[in-house]
Amino acid sequence: MPDELSAGEIVAALGKLACRFDLELVDSCDSTNARLLARAQAGAASGSVIVAREQTAGRGRRGRAWLSAPGDSLTFSLLWRFAAATSLAGLTLAAGVALARALEQIPVAGLALKWPNDLLLDERKLAGLLCEGVPGQTQAVVLGVGLNLRLPSAMPADLRLRSACLPPPLPTASQLLAALLVQLHTVLTAFANDGFTPWRAEWSRRHAFEQRPVQLLSDFAAPLSGVCRGVADDGALLLETEGGVQRIVSGEISLRSA
Ligand code: ATP
Repeated sequence: MPDELSAGEIVAALGKLACRFDLELVDSCDSTNARLLARAQAGAASGSVIVAREQTAGRGRRGRAWLSAPGDSLTFSLLWRFAAATSLAGLTLAAGVALARALEQIPVAGLALKWPNDLLLDERKLAGLLCEGVPGQTQAVVLGVGLNLRLPSAMPADLRLRSACLPPPLPTASQLLAALLVQLHTVLTAFANDGFTPWRAEWSRRHAFEQRPVQLLSDFAAPLSGVCRGVADDGALLLETEGGVQRIVSGEISLRSA
């Protein structure tokens, strides 16, 4: 295995922010999101993190699978609790900005964000975000991240063509995790006060499909074609269609280049 996650190295790399996180490193689990959601329901603190060397049933949106392999993937989840009246609209997009910022500092060039929850490298999916509310706790959210350090050897050929991994030289997985957590801390702390609005410009600057024609695919409706005209302050995608600009808010949609 190229490099192992090490709790000591993660804490050292977090520096003075280490006290803001409660880190749990596990060898294997089904899904870091599922496990952290359970911990959250039992009262885990904001800033709790579960990072798994191996995730056996990683989840994407709508029950889709996130493929990972020990040593080839960084898979972790972060619990964040917000104050009572905070609007969480646009949270996934703000978290995407945090991931992009952390990777750009490495530096990785060619990153772009795909609405609502993917990070692309040279138009292929490098990382996915899964933002899930904690049942019964309206202001608590678990943010799951799956990031390809290398492409898992078991990845099917068609998925391989659509996937990207980080270009060498790679930082260690522990350094990478710490860098991602530091940026998530910055963005989520600011988001708690001001929402997505201050992050909107940064998100749009990295928008993979800005001013480009796309198709939106849904399990429940006919495909919708239009041109991306940015995102709104609440994170809704603005799609210019024949009938005018539509606000797309549903996460139950997959976006494709037209
Ligand atoms: P899409 O990319 O089709 O729009 P989505 O954004 O709706 O999908 P997500 O829930 O974000 O889907 O992610 C799950 C999808 O990501 C899977 O269906 C698969 O196509 C793809 N995927 C799974 N594992 C990986 C991986 N390690 N790297 C890149 N892509 C992956």
